[in-house]
Amino acid sequence: MAKRTVIANWKMHGSRAEARALARGVRRLLNNRFAAVEVVLAPPLTSLEVVRQAVEGSRLLLCAQNLHWQPQGAFTGEVGADMLRDAGCSHVIVGHSERRRLFGETNAESGRKVAAALDASLKPVLCIGETLEQRGGGRTWRTLSAQLSGALKSVPKSVSGSLAVAYEPVWAIGTGKNATPTQVMEAHGWIRRALKRRFGPSEAARIPILYGGSVNPANAPDLARVPEVDGTLVGGASLEHRSFAAIVGAFSEREG
Ligand code: PEP
Repeated sequence: MAKRTVIANWKMHGSRAEARALARGVRRLLNNRFAAVEVVLAPPLTSLEVVRQAVEGSRLLLCAQNLHWQPQGAFTGEVGADMLRDAGCSHVIVGHSERRRLFGETNAESGRKVAAALDASLKPVLCIGETLEQRGGGRTWRTLSAQLSGALKSVPKSVSGSLAVAYEPVWAIGTGKNATPTQVMEAHGWIRRALKRRFGPSEAARIPILYGGSVNPANAPDLARVPEVDGTLVGGASLEHRSFAAIVGAFSEREG
């Protein structure tokens, strides 16, 4: 059975000293526990190096929160996929709703980022999710469909095992109001079927589908038990090492 994946998205929080302390805290608490879970830390760019050093020799992996699709050039303020690999990243978050909502990232741009990440052997974690308005207006599946097809258009079938999808309903991110297990089951089932149509059943089965949105130590056990939940992307609760480790623990419990 494939490992579940738990990713800490620290967003734009913390100094390098704080990032180092947080990474060390996670490392110490996890130690050799919960080996069935792949644990990934996504610090701000400025802290990638201190976190890389803090997790060196452990099973913790390093993730960037964004990338540009060009490998290099006159793109002030941007960072390319090869640079992130060089900085020690194995994963990169693509299309987070904050990038879409606050910085205007389109589905087509997410697609270019996914392709660039794959080219550089970085695992893209493609975030998709509907707003409350889209859900209320019965447009959830249409929204997810456009996000998925826009971002996965140029992904060849053979590399489908090198990417992950995170279902992150926008209304659940940073609000303290997580999607219910029933809503998550329904959405992940829909996403799995869409991936099967795009990649075929066996390739689609290799793509983990993570849930993200106000996951915390209290709701993690219920969410981790939902079929088709292959892990989680955690924002706020990942900024404290004990609560993040408790979430990792909850996801190590899931059966089958
Ligand atoms: C996120 O930013 O991806 C996220 C899930 O945040 P939070 O856990 O704070 O809702």
